[in-house]
Order: sequence, then C-alpha cells, then structure tokens
Amino acid sequence: MNAKRTGLTCLLLGLVLTLAAAPKVYYVAPDGKDTNKGTIDSPLATFNKVQEFVEPGDTVYFRGGTYRVRQDQYARYAATDNIMRRYTSHTGWVIVNDVSKSGAENNRIHYFAYPGEKPVFDLQDIKPPFGEVQTLAKVIVFHVRASWIHFKGLEIIGTQVTDYRSASQSECFRNEGSHNIYEQLSMHDGMALGFFLTTGSYNLVLNCDAYRNHDTVSANGRGGNTDGFGFHGDQGSIHNVIRGCRAWWNSDDGYDCINNAETVIIENCWAFYNGFASGTFNSAGDGTGFKMGGYGATPRLSSLPEFIPGNIVHHCLSYRNKINGFYANHHTLSGHQFYNNTAYRNNPNYCLLSQEILPGASNATDCDGFNHILRNNISLAYPGMQEVTRLGTCVNVNNTFTPGFVTASAEDFLNTIDDKQLEAPRKADGSLPDIEFMHLKKGSRLIDKGTYTGISYNGEGPDLGAFETNY
Ligand code: CA
Ligand code: CA
Repeated sequence: MNAKRTGLTCLLLGLVLTLAAAPKVYYVAPDGKDTNKGTIDSPLATFNKVQEFVEPGDTVYFRGGTYRVRQDQYARYAATDNIMRRYTSHTGWVIVNDVSKSGAENNRIHYFAYPGEKPVFDLQDIKPPFGEVQTLAKVIVFHVRASWIHFKGLEIIGTQVTDYRSASQSECFRNEGSHNIYEQLSMHDGMALGFFLTTGSYNLVLNCDAYRNHDTVSANGRGGNTDGFGFHGDQGSIHNVIRGCRAWWNSDDGYDCINNAETVIIENCWAFYNGFASGTFNSAGDGTGFKMGGYGATPRLSSLPEFIPGNIVHHCLSYRNKINGFYANHHTLSGHQFYNNTAYRNNPNYCLLSQEILPGASNATDCDGFNHILRNNISLAYPGMQEVTRLGTCVNVNNTFTPGFVTASAEDFLNTIDDKQLEAPRKADGSLPDIEFMHLKKGSRLIDKGTYTGISYNGEGPDLGAFETNY
C-alpha cells in the first residue's frame, strides 16, 4: 500500500471512529410528546420512547417536574417468563420502563436528571389489573436488563402493590445487568422496594435514598417484603457495591442480602426506623437495619449455593430499627466482615446468629455465631435493649463489646439525641449530609482506638465506629 492510500485509509478510519464516538443528547419532559424529536425544545414524554433512539455514550436528560405515569405507558406485561428467577410466584409483572438497550464497555448510556432540576415519576395510577393486564400483577418501575447504564437524580414515588393474595412485592429498580451505576436516586412513599438485584456484576448503588415504603396490601399489610435495598445475586454476580445510601421507614429491612450467592460490599450507609409503618413506631415487617446473609430459617443443604460467600459491611450506621441493627441472619459456614460500624437503639445492636451443618442432617440448624469477623465496631447501650447476641466464637477485636476493651457511653458523642439529622438533605454532590449525630466528640476514648483494616484513617489509628474524626 502506498503512502497516499495509507493516508486515505487513516482519514476514513478516523472519520468512522469520530462518527461512532460522537455522543448525542436527548431530552424528556413532563409536558413532552413521544412524537417530538427529543431536543430541548421538542422533548419526548417517556423513557420507553427515548430508549429507541439512544446509543452507547449518549445522554438523556429528564427535565424537572412530575411524570404521572399513565396506564397506557407501560412497556410490557411479563406473565410467564422467569424474570423472578429464584423468586417465582403465581402472578406476573407490569414492566413500566423496560431498560433493555445496553451501553458499551466504558461507554455507558446516561439517564440523568437535567442539572439543577428534579424529575419525579409518580406511579400511583399503575394499579393492575387494568387495560390489557387482565390479572393482578406486580410492578417494576425500571426493569434493568441492560448493562453499562448510568442513572442519576431520578425520583420515584407512589409505586403500588395490588396483589393481596400472598406476600407480594413491587420494585422501583430491578437490576439484572452488569456495570450499571445507580446514583442519587430517591425511591419513597410507595409500596415497593427501592432497589432489588437478582443477578449481574460490577454494579454500584451510590448515594441513593429509599424511605417511607410500605406494602400495606399483600399478606395482611404487614409489609414484610418492603426493604430499602435488596441484594440477592445468584452465582457469578460479583463485585456489587452499595455506598453512601440511606434506608429509613421501610416496613421490612433497610438492607437485605438473604439468598445472596456472592460477596456484596455495603459501605458508608445508614439504616434507621426500618420495620415500622411509615412515619410511626408501630410494628410492621422484620425491621433489621443490615441483614447480611442467610438462606432461610432451616434451609435444605441442597438449596445452598455451591460456595457460600461472606458479605462485608463497614462504616455503616444502624439506629433505632425495630429489631437487629446488624444481623448475620442464620448465615452458615462462611463469615461476614463487620468493620467500623456504629449501632444504637436497635434490639439488639448486633446479632451474629449462624447455622451449623450437623453430620447426617439434610438441613442447616441455628447456632451461636462463628467465622464472622468484628473489628472497630461501636455498640451504644440503650435502656431495655440488648447490645450483642449470639456472638459465639466470632472474631471480636477492638469493639466496644470486646472484653477488657473500651466501652461506649453517650459522653463519647457530639449528639445522641437529635436523630432528625439523619434525614437532612444530601450535599450538592449527592453525598451524605454532614451531621453531629453519633459522631465522636473531641477527646473521646474511642478515637484512634481501632485496628487497621486496610481502609485509610486520620490520626494515629482508625477510630471506632462509622465516622472517622479529623480533630
Ligand atoms: Ca427483608
Ligand atoms: Ca483516627
């Protein structure tokens, strides 16, 4: 090939690459129309329509205001497919937004709130049966089957449950893809779980809030499935992380990792007031802050994963949940890592209940904790409530409940009273608000008292608890 032809080939190749790499921007607005062009002056109306246009690298901006989703706007009804995987049940699903088109490696499709605006999706009218959906059905607001997707700044309210016949559940976000980012999402005042993962790897849930969610319809309204965040990945669902999130006043648990077959990392998250009817302290569902694993009360050995993972929870705060703050939830064989957490006013703050497999048995059975590792954790006592139960032979190092080590008292903290600080607005970048509640006071004996866990710290050593000081 001569130099001239080589130059032409390079030029053409460069042109193709340039065309392929040029990301486009689309707009969706509450007063948009799906017959519009998708520009800022001619916005579309729905996610399902804009998805037809997008390619990897593109950005969709949702303008502020309320999108009251109509019954004729849902994507599909899934009657018999297996999207529930291990969670089969007798009713199908109304998929409102079907996220089926993937981005590409390191070239995500972005579904973002328009900067400075707040798009709110109101699902109150999606109450099956309706229209072509002739049966009771559950609702998934965003069914994310795709990979390399980034959601940011979307708010979802009013998601319904209408199937009263059994313990049912609707979901705001269902993840079945990989390499997705869920950022600054707010899922509240509905009957659905906030976020629910059944499969997929390398997903990040970042700075999201799930609150005041309570299924008051199914199973006599106990709300026993309505968790803030659920991680229930199958074998091969690796490297999933949840960071900087809050779960409060969900009728079941804050964070639930039951039936999870791979390690999940939960870091810098808060759980409070879970297990109560929204806005009250009336008992509803289970009420654990961080439910870290387990496979049920007496699981058959044949139903357990081939390799049982331990999960990791560190620098998290669990406060005033109905029962456990941090809970091993009948986990078996392997152990979880509980590092630098703070628990107060749960009952108990930590429960390490495990399960053993006895010779000849076909089911695992409850026993005191073993193989869990607890380091640098704080338990602050509250009158009438237990601190740590079923500790068994777990590794218990540099915790306020480690025998002969320092103990925590209210005097160690800047504030143990004003729990409303936990609901404060997030910072502009989406990170958790700066508060004083349950933060250590200057001079506390719990500062620098921790053992190194591989995570950076200030001063002469890691502090105990969730919030490293910088005095
Ligand atoms: Ca739960
Ligand atoms: Ca320190």
